[in-house]
Amino acid sequence: MQKIFYGKHFLDEDDIASVVDVLRNGALTQGPKVEAFENQVAQYVGAKYAVAVSNGTAALHIACLAANLNEESVVVTSPITFVASANCAQYVGAETQFSDIDPETLNMSPEALRQTCHTLKKVSAIIPVHFGGLPCDMPAISKIAQENGAVVIEDASHALGGLYADGSRVGNCKYSSMTVFSFHPVKIIAAGEGGMITTNDEKLYKKLLRLRSHGINKLDDQFQLDDMATTHGKTNPWYYEMQELGFNYRITDIQSALGSSQMNKIDRFLARRKEIAARYDQAFAGHAQIKPCQSAWRDQSALHLYVVRIAFSERLTRQQVMTKLSEAGIHCQVHYIPVHLQPYYLHQGFAAGNYPVAEQYYAQALSLPEYYGLESHQQEYVIDTLNKVLM
Ligand SMILES: *Cc1c(COP(=O)(O)O)cnc(C)c1O
Repeated sequence: MQKIFYGKHFLDEDDIASVVDVLRNGALTQGPKVEAFENQVAQYVGAKYAVAVSNGTAALHIACLAANLNEESVVVTSPITFVASANCAQYVGAETQFSDIDPETLNMSPEALRQTCHTLKKVSAIIPVHFGGLPCDMPAISKIAQENGAVVIEDASHALGGLYADGSRVGNCKYSSMTVFSFHPVKIIAAGEGGMITTNDEKLYKKLLRLRSHGINKLDDQFQLDDMATTHGKTNPWYYEMQELGFNYRITDIQSALGSSQMNKIDRFLARRKEIAARYDQAFAGHAQIKPCQSAWRDQSALHLYVVRIAFSERLTRQQVMTKLSEAGIHCQVHYIPVHLQPYYLHQGFAAGNYPVAEQYYAQALSLPEYYGLESHQQEYVIDTLNKVLM
């Protein structure tokens, strides 16, 4: 039986050839493909700088470090996200807090955020997550951040190619200090594993470059120890300086070549995702049990996910629905278990009931197959099968 997943990467011969070319002719890592990939994404999103790293989680981690977040910091994110958006604050010793979502956009609600900032007294950073590819209300969030002296780091792991309400591209950082992307195969483009941070701030850019590679000085960073760095006033060819603690979060040329090749197809990827969403929207319009989410903003969304709400019940549980679908070869998923309900965060004092809008959404959520390679006949099969299962 064919297997249909909620999301899947798409590769063509160009992708394969570009990786093979690196294997045959290139440097495997730290070669020219990394910078080429960075420039391509920076140009596409409209940001001055981009730093590619090993994955989106690493990108979030060094973004938090570059923003000087530490044990004294309080970081607010959405409860409806992948755990990495919350964990990056923990990596730097900061306190993670959440702020409830809007029931329609499923993104961090600006009204709730205003209240959260008021309640918490101190907020150092806000990490809005463009859930499913739909950009958050960034003008409102950035205004609240400014009022509270907080930096904004956008988690755009779902949203490469998404548009803000003003029509400009996610990642241009007009509303934030930094924006983070993921190139995990299930996301908009695949690099195997991969992540990137975009920014317009040169200082942040240089710091991110250092943090990616052990904290060693980069570009035109000044050496701190002149005696060590020079002989008779000339720079020593072997010399480098580790000026702060960094990591090996580098991406390889192999991954970057794949990412670049995928970027060449992004317009096609996004257009097809829109078509698929439009077909679902049409099929479920006025449906008694299936309510598509975020349908008012299809034009803005990168459509990483197609999420519906279903009023599951004792008579028809989500487990039964998902089991019947997977018996028919359709493997859906739930995005996401509210992060504050994970045992790790419950141990920090969070509890069921803390973020009621997120929890109500979670009770009804189901992500249907949505990806470039999903064929029309497969989508019709998903629609028919779901209708039958719910009957
Ligand atoms: C995928 C994802 C990440 C992490 O990206 P990786 O590349 O898998 O490390 C972070 N935040 C969100 C919202 C994601 O979906």
